[in-house]
Amino acid sequence: MKTDQQYLDLDKQLLWHPYTSMSQPSPHFLVEKAIGCEITLSDGRTLIDGMSSWWSVIHGYNHPVMNRAIQAQLTQFAHVMFGGFTHKPAIDLAEKLIAITPANLQRVFFSDSGSVSVEVALKMAIQYWNTQGKPTKQFFVTPKSGYHGDTFAAMSVCDPENGMHNVFTGALTQQIFVSPPPTGLNAPVKAEYLDEIRTTFAENHQRIAGFIIEPVVQNAGGMRFYNPEYLNQIRALCDEFDILLIFDEIATGFGRTGKLFATDHTNICPDIMCVGKALTGGYMTLAATLTNDKVALGISDNGGVFMHGPTFMGNPLACSAANASLSLLSEYDIAEKITQLERWMQDALTPCEQLEQVKEVRCLGGIGVVELKKAVNLSEIQPKFVELGVWVRPFGKLIYLMPPYVMSEKQIQTLGQAIHQVISEETC
Ligand SMILES: *Cc1c(COP(=O)(O)O)cnc(C)c1O
Repeated sequence: MKTDQQYLDLDKQLLWHPYTSMSQPSPHFLVEKAIGCEITLSDGRTLIDGMSSWWSVIHGYNHPVMNRAIQAQLTQFAHVMFGGFTHKPAIDLAEKLIAITPANLQRVFFSDSGSVSVEVALKMAIQYWNTQGKPTKQFFVTPKSGYHGDTFAAMSVCDPENGMHNVFTGALTQQIFVSPPPTGLNAPVKAEYLDEIRTTFAENHQRIAGFIIEPVVQNAGGMRFYNPEYLNQIRALCDEFDILLIFDEIATGFGRTGKLFATDHTNICPDIMCVGKALTGGYMTLAATLTNDKVALGISDNGGVFMHGPTFMGNPLACSAANASLSLLSEYDIAEKITQLERWMQDALTPCEQLEQVKEVRCLGGIGVVELKKAVNLSEIQPKFVELGVWVRPFGKLIYLMPPYVMSEKQIQTLGQAIHQVISEETC
């Protein structure tokens, strides 16, 4: 039997972790088990999880309802190909998704991960215009500071400078970037911003297939909140210039911003919408690209078929996890639950505003952000959080919380105190 240290040494030697050096890896912590909002390490330490494992584990770990749903499906079949076969877990899930997402979205394409669902969305848009006799519409407009995933087309619509992909710039499709939406959920709408988009559309619409954006919150690109009214106006501009509107709800979907979808802060519908991350309650990898009849049926004009088909499309175990997660979610009063979480985080993080290292504290729904004046060193800061019994993984200047929805006020307070302490030890 290997010791824990041997496992960790092997990990260092063999394994890549996300965005991590192979020669000077940052520390990694060996997990033994996880239950509720707590992750236990192999050395016995227990951490309160402020990250929901990259925003996905919304009901907490090891949830009996989730476990039972997957076990039940496992006794039937773990997987079958989706070409030629179909199954109840996928059909149930499609029906549920269509019922809860914006009204015009009527068709569902399942894929394995958020990035792939973005690839699918972009391909849908291009293929739609192709069958509609506008084959030059192949490019996308997107705001800077966005994040849409790590695969090639997804990378091409991520922030071109601060995105994690600038080494690849030469190998990526050159998309068309506009400024990020001005920040502030309730900040007055700036006409100049909409003018910039209008000008861009007017000059380029013959080659623009779609406009892709994370609605209301730009997440991994900076945890920036913006006024949903911009989206209402962008919808009108898209209609005017024959451009499909694509919402990436992979981070914001399933309640994170205090409404079931960030789109619900607006009064419009996108043409295409991507969901992932919390879709399966963080149990399995699954994503979906939803679209309206216009796009779905348009692609099939003149005998066209949509050219994408992942091996593990509609995986039954993942669909059954998603069905269970959506059932659990339907038992919550989202507005009430997430508003409470927001209040708790606001209370727990506001003391950080007094620290000279801190630029701003902002919360929206289940997202609590402490923006620092200076970027942190992750390798140094991560072990400090672990010492304090919490799991918080900052990036750049941002220390943030996206806790499971089932977290208690006491656990949020512990997270807030740990963040305060760790920041106060940072140099200014
Ligand atoms: C995480 C994320 C993605 C990529 O999803 P993966 O499952 O990591 O491929 C895309 N868009 C947004 C907004 C995300 O937060």
